[in-house]
Amino acid sequence: MNIALIAHDKKKNNIIEFAKKYLHILKNHNLYATGTTGTKIEEATNLSITKFNSGPLGGDQQIGAKVSEGQMDLIVFFRDPLTPQPHEPDVNALLRLCDVYNVPIATNLKSATMIFDSITSQINA
Ligand code: PGA
Repeated sequence: MNIALIAHDKKKNNIIEFAKKYLHILKNHNLYATGTTGTKIEEATNLSITKFNSGPLGGDQQIGAKVSEGQMDLIVFFRDPLTPQPHEPDVNALLRLCDVYNVPIATNLKSATMIFDSITSQINA
């Protein structure tokens, strides 16, 4: 699968811990991320990630373009709902495109955990 990982600044630690926990899955897929998220995950793990621009500089839009081209299978996007984001319109556009193209997107830790636990149990079945 092509999987995109994105986290707002206050959620960066969460996505790093998430990537470490699910390394056994993530390492077997093509990974994409917005710039800073991708760099931080790469620094904390041995994963190789295709990095787009930083989110506020268009990275979410670049991932949205992949969605619209049918090239994205799953997105983990840990949003910070308590901090105003300068690129909120881009975030909304990405969420919209995921609904247009029926691409699963987990916007918080519990949803992402449920998806990845489900993938883990499918592998182990
Ligand atoms: P970043 O972008 O990974 O470059 O910080 C994420 C975002 O804010 O959408």
